[in-house]
Amino acid sequence: MNTNQPLKILMKKGVNKLKDVLTGKMQITNRLKFHALIGSIASVHVFLLVVFGIFHIMPLFYFNICSVLTYAACFWLMWGEREHYLTIYFITYIEVIMHSFAATICLGWKFGFAQYIIAIVPVGFYICYTLDIRQKKFTIATVSAVISSVAFLACKFLSFFGEPLVVIDNIALELSLYVFNSLCAFVFLIIFSLVFVFEMKLSSSQLKHQNAILDKLASTDPLTGLYNRRSMDIFLNQAVESASSFALIMCDIDNFKKVNDTYGHDFGDIVLKGIASITTDQVKGQGYVCRWGGEEILILINNASEESSLRIAENIRRNVANRVFELNDKWIHCSITLGVALYNGNEPVEDTITRADYNLYCGKRNGKNAVVS
Ligand code: GH3
Ligand code: MG
Ligand code: MG
Repeated sequence: MNTNQPLKILMKKGVNKLKDVLTGKMQITNRLKFHALIGSIASVHVFLLVVFGIFHIMPLFYFNICSVLTYAACFWLMWGEREHYLTIYFITYIEVIMHSFAATICLGWKFGFAQYIIAIVPVGFYICYTLDIRQKKFTIATVSAVISSVAFLACKFLSFFGEPLVVIDNIALELSLYVFNSLCAFVFLIIFSLVFVFEMKLSSSQLKHQNAILDKLASTDPLTGLYNRRSMDIFLNQAVESASSFALIMCDIDNFKKVNDTYGHDFGDIVLKGIASITTDQVKGQGYVCRWGGEEILILINNASEESSLRIAENIRRNVANRVFELNDKWIHCSITLGVALYNGNEPVEDTITRADYNLYCGKRNGKNAVVS
């Protein structure tokens, strides 16, 4: 059997997870974030443990054993349902500062261990910002950042004025560790900055999406999907302010009480929805359709003439009359009466609505299933 097989499977799983995160299929949960954070920091420590072991840098070798055990404890704090993320952040933060401090005192400034103290600063802000914690998030991150800067300067001063505890006469090792530490610190900085920006973008697009849903809920009628009266008031005001010619069509389903009483309220709803969809289809792009009252629909036609608004009203009437409404093997024909009124340019819009209403009731009186202007 190929010994690389488990490694390949693990890498494939990792790549797939990354793909899922980037394509939005998988949410970046706190669990995922902390597993990635602790996993990557622990891997760096395991690597350093091996290096310190090989080159017999014993104080740091023992320190790294403690560090690896610390991160094992962090994984234990996330085991199963456990979610002690703030505690894990504090443990990680203290460990990184102490490790950088110890390695700089032990080997000197030139090995670049102090860079981790800088790299941990944005991680603190990122973690505290994205964690759902009640404590003062920004205070925690800011205090951590201030402690980091003090620790960084303390490292510089101590290594500047004192000699390293372990003297390493190996330029290649010094350079390699410096490059390794710099790369790790930059990779942390870049990855956390990228993930931060990615999460901000994601949450702002989620917010936009939720706002659009709320907007729709606030402006439409849930049964028919037509605009509600509140939205129509806005459209009417806009139409009046734009000083354009517009027409209003007031519609009322004929004998709708009878439909409800004979076939039930559910059947009545089917009829209402069907008529709403016919109306929207006929008006499409030329104005707005709103559920004005129970089974009354008010239509606003923009840039309308008497002729064009009558044509639309007549199309609606004819389509409703020709439609068969069905539910549970029962079917019926329905009709609708429509009153049309043109806005005359200097009356309050309520007067135009009253005229459309009056024309509607003229149509009702004269036998229904009609368009009256
Ligand atoms: P007319 O031809 O004169 O209009 O007679 P009508 O029976 O339609 O009388 P009216 O317009 O007063 O009827 C209104 C009815 O509409 C009463 C009410 O039960 C029904 N209605 C109002 N809203 C709804 C709804 O959301 N669903 C259903 N199924 N019925 C509704
Ligand atoms: Mg009515
Ligand atoms: Mg009616």
